[in-house]
Amino acid sequence: MGLSVGIDLGTSNSTAAVYRRGKVESIPIEGKKVLPSVVSYKDNGQILVGHSAKARLYIDPQNTVSSSKRFIGDSNKQYHIHNKALTPVDIAQEILKKIKTEASKYLGEEVKDAVITIPAYFTDEQREATKKAGELAGFNVLRLLSEPTAAAIAYGLDKERNQTIMVYDLGGGTFDVSILKVEGNSFEVEAVDGDSLLGGDDFDEKIMNYLLSNVSNGASANQMSPGSLSMQRLKEAAEEAKKELSESDFTDISIPDIFGTHIDEEVDVETFNKMIQPLLERTINKINEVLEEADLTKRDISRVILVGGSTRMRAVQEAVTQNIKKPYIADNVDEIVAQGAAIMAANLSAPSIDTAPVPIEVKDVTAHSLGIGFLSENDEYRVVHLIKRNTVLPCTGAEMGFTRYPNQKNVRMAVYRTNDTIPLDEHLLGELVLSVTPKEEPVSVVALFELDNSGVLTFSSAELSPDSALFREYSQTEVINLRALKEMIENKELKIKQATIDTNKQEA
Ligand code: AMP
Repeated sequence: MGLSVGIDLGTSNSTAAVYRRGKVESIPIEGKKVLPSVVSYKDNGQILVGHSAKARLYIDPQNTVSSSKRFIGDSNKQYHIHNKALTPVDIAQEILKKIKTEASKYLGEEVKDAVITIPAYFTDEQREATKKAGELAGFNVLRLLSEPTAAAIAYGLDKERNQTIMVYDLGGGTFDVSILKVEGNSFEVEAVDGDSLLGGDDFDEKIMNYLLSNVSNGASANQMSPGSLSMQRLKEAAEEAKKELSESDFTDISIPDIFGTHIDEEVDVETFNKMIQPLLERTINKINEVLEEADLTKRDISRVILVGGSTRMRAVQEAVTQNIKKPYIADNVDEIVAQGAAIMAANLSAPSIDTAPVPIEVKDVTAHSLGIGFLSENDEYRVVHLIKRNTVLPCTGAEMGFTRYPNQKNVRMAVYRTNDTIPLDEHLLGELVLSVTPKEEPVSVVALFELDNSGVLTFSSAELSPDSALFREYSQTEVINLRALKEMIENKELKIKQATIDTNKQEA
C-alpha cells in the first residue's frame, strides 16, 4: 500500500505531512512549509496556487481568490472569474491538486490516500464539500478529522493518563477554541467555539492603523482604498513587523515613497501589546464561554496546546498563561495540524494494528443544536432544543408537549437546526404533523430525536396517555425516561408517526 498524507486545508495557509519510517515529517511545497490558500486564474488560462497566486491578490484581485474556506459548503457562493462561475469547492480542489502533485514529487510516488482536517464546528454540508474537493483533486479521502483532534494527536499526548485538553488555535483569519477529552487513545471533542472573524490579519491591521494615523494627511482616498497597491505594501510591512516582534522587543518599519511620504517608525513590543489588547481579550472571553458551556473551570484543564501561526506572538502565550495555564508550544505551530492528520492517515492505511503509529479512536459531536418550535405559556413561539450542540454522536433527545386548544386534531411540529431559541425560517429543516385524539383537556405528545453518525435525524412522535408509567414519571420529575420511551416504541405500545430528516440540508 502506498503512502498516505495528512492535509491541513487552512483559511489562509495549507500544509501537508506524512508519517514514514516511524516518524512524522512536513512535506515542503515548492520548497516552503506552508502553501498560501490562494488561487489565481491568469488570462492565458494558467492557474496559479500558493505564493505566486498570493502575489497577484492585489495586482489582479478580480481573478484571484483567497480565504475561500470561509464559504465552503455554501451553495450560493460563486466567484466570477473570466466569465466562469467557480465555487469554493473548485478553489479548494485547486489547492488540494497542488498539494497532491507536490507531495507525490517529494515522496517519489503517487500519493492517493489522504486525511483532510476541518474545523470541529463545520456543518455537514461544509464537511461534504471539503470531501468532494478532495475527491475532485484525485484523493481517496480516508476521512475528515477535526483540527483540534489532529493537533492533540500531533502533540503526542501522554497515553497513560486521562486528560482534558484545551486547543487554542489562532491562525491568519480565524480563532478556534476546543476542549477535548482524551482517554487512552480515544479523543472526544467536548466543546468547540470560536470567532471566524478574528485572526492574524486583525493584528496586522492594528499596526497598519497605527502607521496610517501618522500619514493620513498626505494620502489620497484612492491610495487608502483597501485593494490599493500602497495598502498591500503597508499590510506586508505590518505583518513583517508583527512577526519580528515575536522575536525581538522592537522593530523598525520603513516603507519608502508611500502615500506621498516615507514611513519610518520604530514600534516596540509594549506599544504593540497595548494595541492588540482588545483582540487578546476577545480570545480569552471565548475561552471562558467554552469552559462554561462544557461545564468546566480552568482547573479542569490538564493541558493547553497552541496551534496556528499567530500563537507565536508572545502576548498570546502570556495571555493564555495568565488566564488558563502555561501552554504547550510546539516549534512548528503551523504544521502541527497536518502532522496529526498524517499520523491518523498512516493509522487508517496501516495493514495491521501493529504497524499503525498509534491506534486512535475519534468521536464526533453535533455542530448545532436541534429542536422543535413550541408555543410557550405566554404565547411566544420558541425553539426548544432536544439535542444540544457539542453532543457526541450518535445521540438522542426527547421533549413533552401538549395540545393548545380543546378538540385539537393535529399537532404540527417544526424542526429547527439552530443554537438560538428564536425560530428563523432559514433554520427550518422539516416538520411532522401528528393526529391526536380530540379531547377537551390538553393531550400530551412526546417527541423523540435520534441523530445518527452521519447527521440523519429520525424524528418520532406519539400521543401519550396520562395513565402511562412514562407520563406519570415525567409529571413528577419533568424528565423523560428515554430508555422507557424507546422500549415502548420497540414494543409497539405507542402509535408512532415518524419522519426522517437530513440535517445535512443546506440553509435557505
Ligand atoms: P496559519 O493560518 O496558522 O498559517 O497562521 C497564519 C498567521 O500567522 C498569519 O497571520 C501570520 O502573520 C501569523 N504568523 C506567522 N508567523 C508569525 C510570527 N512569528 N509571529 C506572529 N504571527 C505570525
